[in-house]
Amino acid sequence: MFRAGCHRMFAAVAARQPVCLGPVFHTSRSAARHCSNTSPQSCWSCDDTIDAEGFFCGCEKNVVLPVNPKRDYFSILGCTRSFTLDSAELQKSFRRLQTQLHPDKFSNQPQQAQTYSADQSSLVNNAFQTLSSPLSRGLYMLQLGNMAVEDGTTSTDQTFLMHVMDLNDSLDAIESEQDLTEFLPEVQELIESCTGKAAAAFEQENLEVAREQICQLKYFVNLERRAKDKLLAADIAS
Ligand SMILES: [Zn+2]
Repeated sequence: MFRAGCHRMFAAVAARQPVCLGPVFHTSRSAARHCSNTSPQSCWSCDDTIDAEGFFCGCEKNVVLPVNPKRDYFSILGCTRSFTLDSAELQKSFRRLQTQLHPDKFSNQPQQAQTYSADQSSLVNNAFQTLSSPLSRGLYMLQLGNMAVEDGTTSTDQTFLMHVMDLNDSLDAIESEQDLTEFLPEVQELIESCTGKAAAAFEQENLEVAREQICQLKYFVNLERRAKDKLLAADIAS
């Protein structure tokens, strides 16, 4: 129903737009501290042995600990490393941690506590942003599995590439709001299908397949964003 136009190269260009993941642990203004790659062994305030997976020391002062660079985003948000996440649980965990670690709560505490709470809080924020969307979650999981998708990586599936080019051409050719509202769900279905295939591949620990699916997801997400932008512009114009 949508005519293909002539912008065949668009898909390749669109897929190259970077998805910001943020560096894994260089999330705050104090990157150097995170780079040491050593886990703190004892509490900076009371010197007790600490839980490497915790945010606080168990001592009576409820001391906030520095970031442990060995923890990944899943561990930080207290969930299993899986592509299929319970987003309600993720959100609950995020809110709870943000309340506990909010720098305002440490404004009367020593400078060290203020710095650590700001670091932890920003790390929790980055973890949540990354794990919330299937695309950034997938990219992050590939990164953890040493299969990072570098900027500019394109799909190697020629049939898929032709399909996505046609979709981009179709979107370019659309002129009415009505056609746009029909086009969007088509793309969203493709996103869902791609996400499902990626989930199955991650589940089977087949990172090669997961990587291809995440690459394809990147194209569809870009296409969806373009369609939404176009719809918004049409809304404003009408
Ligand atoms: Zn302590």
